[in-house]
Amino acid sequence: MKIAVIGGGWAGLSAAVTAVRQGHHVQLFEAASALGGRARTVHHPGLGAPIDNGQHILLGAYTATLELMRSLGLSLEDSFHVLPLSVRSADGTLAMHAVPGLPAPLHIAAGLLAARGLTWKEKSAALRLMHHLHRNNWHTPREATVQEWLALSLQPPRLQRLLWGPLCVATMNTPPEQACAQLFANVLRDSVGASRREAGNMLIPRRTLSELWPARVAELAEGGGLNPTGNGTLEIFNSATIRAIHAEFAEHTRVDSLGGRSAVHSQFHLDDLPQTFDSIVVCANTPSTARLLASLPSLPGTTDYLHNVQSFTHSPIATLTLQFDQSVTLPSPMLLLHEDRQRGHFGQWLFQAQDKECRRLHIVVSDAQEMQSMERNTLLAKMTEQLQEQLRHTQLPRVQQHALVMEKRATFLAVPGLKRPTNQTPWPGIWVAGDWTDTGYPGVLEGAVRSGRDAALQMDTALRQSS
Ligand SMILES: Cc1cc2nc3c(=O)[nH]c(=O)nc-3n(C[C@H](O)[C@H](O)[C@H](O)COP(=O)(O)OP(=O)(O)OC[C@H]3O[C@@H](n4cnc5c(N)ncnc54)[C@H](O)[C@@H]3O)c2cc1C
Repeated sequence: MKIAVIGGGWAGLSAAVTAVRQGHHVQLFEAASALGGRARTVHHPGLGAPIDNGQHILLGAYTATLELMRSLGLSLEDSFHVLPLSVRSADGTLAMHAVPGLPAPLHIAAGLLAARGLTWKEKSAALRLMHHLHRNNWHTPREATVQEWLALSLQPPRLQRLLWGPLCVATMNTPPEQACAQLFANVLRDSVGASRREAGNMLIPRRTLSELWPARVAELAEGGGLNPTGNGTLEIFNSATIRAIHAEFAEHTRVDSLGGRSAVHSQFHLDDLPQTFDSIVVCANTPSTARLLASLPSLPGTTDYLHNVQSFTHSPIATLTLQFDQSVTLPSPMLLLHEDRQRGHFGQWLFQAQDKECRRLHIVVSDAQEMQSMERNTLLAKMTEQLQEQLRHTQLPRVQQHALVMEKRATFLAVPGLKRPTNQTPWPGIWVAGDWTDTGYPGVLEGAVRSGRDAALQMDTALRQSS
């Protein structure tokens, strides 16, 4: 069958690879000049080398993504720095590590007990919370925010500020007072609460995001290596923005052993392109998906579905990359920064970059609205000051170059009660995928990959049933 995938982010690529492996002929249309979407490599003139649009970390719990990478012949050891779960602040006042040699999830409990910088009261409150979650099958009160749930669970304010707040913002790009407690609990369940130690590992890419696996998909697609049986193929078109989907739906009745069954036969065109498709998987962000779906004829259920897709709001993530005139070594590739917005100290996490000379650091700020209205040089001065203050034992060399990447719509705001659409739409033959669909996760890479895979599998089943 002929399939069009619209969007070449991680969801679109995952859908395309899955559909090719099911034996379909897939054409993927990506608006940008390169693949990757919100997890992509960008070129900054000042730095003289490609960087990512923002530092991304993956978790050992990202099973669909890691499985996909393995299936593309990529070595995970070469692709990532793998760190056992740890939270360590740049100023050394807070340190918590999963304890080696203990089975999961005891290694986390022991790590919490041995943590530096938390009082006994705070440690026992954190352990109690994890125990309650476990006992309640990882369910939190319905429609509660993270802040409400932490208060109900009697978590001391300092523990919320030092540990839970930063973890919530980092995983959900949504502040605790707005973030959905259940989605946060789902992330905890699959990482620190899992029975596999590796699920809690933190995976920091050793390569740029485009090189991590999207480039491999493009390479295999070109050589016909995605489906060695030769049945499925993938053609990728970059710089190809799709503006409208034209559909023809025809109902037909087939006589079978049960005496007759009615099915809808769909056929699609995109813009004024000559090719026809049997099915479409839309893997764009919500505004673009809503525009594309709105170009289709109205059918029962489509108004509500479209309304759901349009109801998402977004939150920015900023990444400040500093390039120094000499190498700089951090005590860990990832450090927690204490944020103080009043002083312009917006930094939340600090990462050592992938450059071989170790001259670059990335400072990451999730939920970065406030930064958007600030002057760039002021931000640079304040955030460098924050770094120097908190990296007490490291003398920072001179900043030679910097790059500030502001992703305005980095992820959807993961608030309680959000109705997240399923992969199946009310239009026969049209499927959607993306981190914003009903994945059970906040807006993360693993959600995108699972969503793409699931959309393609459901589409394949539907096509087989109707043919
Ligand atoms: C700065 C930053 C840091 C992040 N950090 C993390 C992290 O540490 N860990 C984590 O798990 N997640 C992180 N995320 C979230 C993660 O990047 C996203 O969840 C994921 O990339 C979403 O993938 P997607 O395929 O669903 O959507 P997208 O990546 O948005 O892909 C959609 C694609 O569709 C294309 N498109 C849109 N409209 C059209 C059209 N009409 N025609 C053709 N193409 C179209 C777009 O150009 C885009 O390439 C971060 C995101 C950002 C921005």
